[in-house]
Amino acid sequence: MAKKQFKTESKKLLDMMINSIYTHKEIFLRELISNASDAIDKLYFRSLTDGSVTLNRSDYEIRIVPDGENRTLEIRDNGIGMTKDELENNLGTIAHSGSFEFKKDGNDPGSEGGDIDIIGQFGVGFYSAFMVSDSVTVESRAWGADEAYCWRSTGADGYSIEPCDKEDAGTVVTLHLKPDTDEEKYDEFLDEWKIRELVKKYSDYIRYPIRMEVTKSRRKEGSPDDKPEYESYREDETLNTMVPIWKRAQDQVTEDEYADFYRNKFYDYEAPLKVIRQKTEGLSSFEALLFIPAHAPFDYYSREYEKGLQLYSSGVMIMEKCKDLIPDYFSFVRGLVDSADLSLNISREMLQHDRQLKAIARAVEKKVAAELSKMLENERDKYEQFFKAFGRQLKYGLYMDYGAHKETLQDLLLLKSSFEDGKQVTLKEYVSRMKEEQKKIYYAAGETVNQIKLLPQVESVLARGFEVLYLTEDVDEFALSMLGKYADREFLNVQREELDIATDEEKESVKAENEQNAEMLKFIKDSLGDGVNAVRFTNTLEKHPVSLSSEGALSMGMEKTLSQMPGAEDGAVKAQLVLEVNMDHPIAGRLKALYEEDKDKLALYSKILYAQARLISGLTIDNASEIGDLVAGLML
Ligand code: ADP
Repeated sequence: MAKKQFKTESKKLLDMMINSIYTHKEIFLRELISNASDAIDKLYFRSLTDGSVTLNRSDYEIRIVPDGENRTLEIRDNGIGMTKDELENNLGTIAHSGSFEFKKDGNDPGSEGGDIDIIGQFGVGFYSAFMVSDSVTVESRAWGADEAYCWRSTGADGYSIEPCDKEDAGTVVTLHLKPDTDEEKYDEFLDEWKIRELVKKYSDYIRYPIRMEVTKSRRKEGSPDDKPEYESYREDETLNTMVPIWKRAQDQVTEDEYADFYRNKFYDYEAPLKVIRQKTEGLSSFEALLFIPAHAPFDYYSREYEKGLQLYSSGVMIMEKCKDLIPDYFSFVRGLVDSADLSLNISREMLQHDRQLKAIARAVEKKVAAELSKMLENERDKYEQFFKAFGRQLKYGLYMDYGAHKETLQDLLLLKSSFEDGKQVTLKEYVSRMKEEQKKIYYAAGETVNQIKLLPQVESVLARGFEVLYLTEDVDEFALSMLGKYADREFLNVQREELDIATDEEKESVKAENEQNAEMLKFIKDSLGDGVNAVRFTNTLEKHPVSLSSEGALSMGMEKTLSQMPGAEDGAVKAQLVLEVNMDHPIAGRLKALYEEDKDKLALYSKILYAQARLISGLTIDNASEIGDLVAGLML
């Protein structure tokens, strides 16, 4: 019998399948099961209008038959079957699925990149059988036809079709598995456990039973208790559960069931903090089952962590981690999206998939944001637990893409605050407590709440009755500076020059004091080299003699963070510092006197005061022993 050649496009796809990388090979089973399920669907739908179809819904099944001796794996269905022409058209060419187009970004079929994108992400149908087989036969009898046909191929060299015997309508696909190599063990696909695992993983929710005869063991009847004997027997097992948990009515799924599902599916040892169900109909109808984990996975804040939701098309998983479904700042969300609108077949207009995926992703993002803000409002403790695990990611989110996501994220932010001594607050809560005369949202940054509380500027702002946000995470200040404003109020680091809490009258007297002592302040600045940009008198330091503030774009905290980044050069990023001297402190008088009497001593004192100011502000000093000597000298 003459061999027929595959159409060119089919040949390309076939080549790609045969040479695909191993990790994707297991999906062949999903593909064949999905075809079988489609074929049953077709017959079932026909039965609704065609009285000659006498099968009941419960008669349908997909059966898997592994045969270790012959090294074959059969996938059988009692669906609609194929006529000779259909075998020819459906399996000899892929014209049926429209124009087969590879992604146009240079991924040639057969090249590694192309493989990964296409096989890994979307179904490739029947041809995937050739990833694991050196020959494939398809025996099929169409519903209502008098004869059956057998399609046979060993891959690239073409296929043949001959009549064969088959009693009932339906299809039997028989794979003859490739021989094992050192790296690739094809015979694992004959293993009952492996098959069970693959069905569970990819096809659990196929709506018809997927059955397999399996070997089980039981206690021999009559065998003594102290010396039990066992015998093995064969029994049919249904491998799939058929009804996805996300398709069941919400009130019929218990919390435990969700938790079990989550733990098994997403490999967590703890139940999720929140379960989110979503169902949307319209342009892109889909169902989503989402989970917010109770703790961050150990690799969450590392490069290794991969975000993504599982993507299902009518109960069949088509992608394990679809990155496009979830934005980076919600990368902690696990779960799945199931849409009947997404076809399993990659060939059907990628673009349309993209559009649908985007619409779904937008809806999912909205839902997650809404659920989080509900949790913040109604379950504050839970939200704080969530924020402890993933707040950092939300802060990165505020900072990312130049603050483009602030509308979504700003109200989900929690920051420590002077309100009730370090309690976490939202920006909304802060603003609601702002005093009438308060112009800015004040914050201060440092390693710990205690360190921040002791900053001279913090004390002065608190003394005037204003609330201060305590930023203890390095990303905090970057996030706020990207926000710029909240509810039309600007953020201000209290250690900044612009801190403006003095009354007009006070400002006048400070200005006069600075003008009168301009020369002396210049002398102090010069004696500190390029350590500071300016030295000024101030009256907002309460009881403290000196402090530091910064002017320009970079704050001291930001300097610290940036200079600790890997690869940062020593001293390459510097905040512009201003040494502030409390004009109402006795030290001011002492400095003025020294300027008249002993300029050398004034230079030494300036050094000590500057070192103190740095330490108070949480900065380090690079001349600690010199300062130590100077102070000891003063004690003598
Ligand atoms: P797809 O399923 O995406 O259309 P496939 O390459 O997997 O692409 O299958 C090609 C066609 O072959 C299917 O559309 C279907 O018409 C037919 N087919 C495949 N498997 C079966 C089967 N088990 N029973 C009936 N028809 C089948």
